[in-house]
Amino acid sequence: MEKKKLIAGNWKMNGNLEANDALVRALVAGMKDAACSVAVCVPAPYLGQVQLLKAGSALELGAQDVSPHAQGAYTGEVSAPMLREFGVRYAIVGHSERRQYHGETDALVAEKAKTALAHGVTPIVCVGETLAEREAGQTEEVVKRQLAAVIHVNGHCISEIVVAYEPVWAIGTGKTATPEMAQQVHGLLRKQLGAATSHAERVHILYGGSMNAANAASLLAQPDIDGGLVGGASLKAADFLQIVAAAS
Ligand code: PEP
Repeated sequence: MEKKKLIAGNWKMNGNLEANDALVRALVAGMKDAACSVAVCVPAPYLGQVQLLKAGSALELGAQDVSPHAQGAYTGEVSAPMLREFGVRYAIVGHSERRQYHGETDALVAEKAKTALAHGVTPIVCVGETLAEREAGQTEEVVKRQLAAVIHVNGHCISEIVVAYEPVWAIGTGKTATPEMAQQVHGLLRKQLGAATSHAERVHILYGGSMNAANAASLLAQPDIDGGLVGGASLKAADFLQIVAAAS
């Protein structure tokens, strides 16, 4: 059976009660016929609001980060068991903005993925090279190193993660990897997963980086692109729903 594509929105640090209300209502109304899975990863304070708004629909809820610890004296952190209480299915881990602005290492990202999995939250593990790394011909080495850390720590559970290939130079810049460029990296990641699990085919490998209504269909047509992680275009219902339609 062919697996459904997954389109996940990453709102980043955007939204407010009023705007979220309108956006989620429009998504729920507009995705009734969607043949793909759809999620929104919202700022932590709004998880409860979005949980109520999406109730009874197929829209899934995601967080943008998760603590590597399950509970305790970790001021400011949000744990996977807390996320579960709000019906959270996914948590983004290792987004390049967290690696860049919060010093997150491959090892920390792997621990976050492990704790999420242990508590029933599916980690969306982000990997991707910077422009300097691409220009230095290091793309393969970088993404493989980032994924290897997660495979190493998560062992036999690795087929339960979602991977997002997000070239850093394409995030929020309007520059998108061509479908061929993205497929080349997705193929490498699939092969790497295949060396660790016999279920690599069932892992969703999402593309992220300025995905929009105009480029989604050609990216999603690639054999190893199983969906998208969408930033800017997830903040407008019409744009996001067009990407959902392209994946359906
Ligand atoms: C992201 O932040 O995960 C992302 C892909 O952003 P954008 O779609 O805006 O490039």
